[in-house]
Amino acid sequence: MERTDRVRGRVIVISGPSGVGKTSLCHQLLKRHPERLCFSISATTRPRREGEREGMDYFFVSREDFDRQIERGDFIEFAESYDHCYGSYRRPLEEAVRHGQLYLMDIDVQGAAQLQDRLAEAGIPATYVFIAPPSLDELLARLQRRRTEDSDALESRLAKVQFEMEQSELYDEIIVNEDLERSLARLEVLLGLSAPATAEE
Ligand code: 5GP
Repeated sequence: MERTDRVRGRVIVISGPSGVGKTSLCHQLLKRHPERLCFSISATTRPRREGEREGMDYFFVSREDFDRQIERGDFIEFAESYDHCYGSYRRPLEEAVRHGQLYLMDIDVQGAAQLQDRLAEAGIPATYVFIAPPSLDELLARLQRRRTEDSDALESRLAKVQFEMEQSELYDEIIVNEDLERSLARLEVLLGLSAPATAEE
């Protein structure tokens, strides 16, 4: 990737196991700070879930289209996860950081590892945040409540958790998502979006 001059923004990478609450955290952050934050809409070959909107949550593409976009160099990173492909577009990232925005990316640990090298090469500053569950039992309960996956997918997602948790030490910050409001406040401080609360005297 070429070095991008006059970078004023920053990339914020959010990773963590499926069901840990990353999507809710990202949605809330975007709602609260629409003027500072911009969300990376990935391409994926997985089928659309109920309630998901094309071009808002993901760009839902065929495997052929995805491969064509890889060949064209459209992605700054891409990974295969649970038999489906996911990729982040290079162009909107470069534009957002050039315009001084915080560019929020909800991607898996494989993608985050690729970005670490590419963004450093390009001189684009980034903060890597890992969202961890309070416990594995809690995560399992959340995934079962969510029930967006069939049982096979649920099993493969759980099998991946161990690996993902091991990668958490490569991140700048680990937030244990016990309480959405507290995690949001922590993220806001980390990203310079609000002042830390001052201790009462
Ligand atoms: P889901 O299918 O539940 O929306 O996402 C599955 C996993 O793919 C999540 O861990 C999510 O962070 C990750 N993911 C979503 N978009 C991308 C992307 O563009 N690149 C990579 N590497 N992972 C992604």
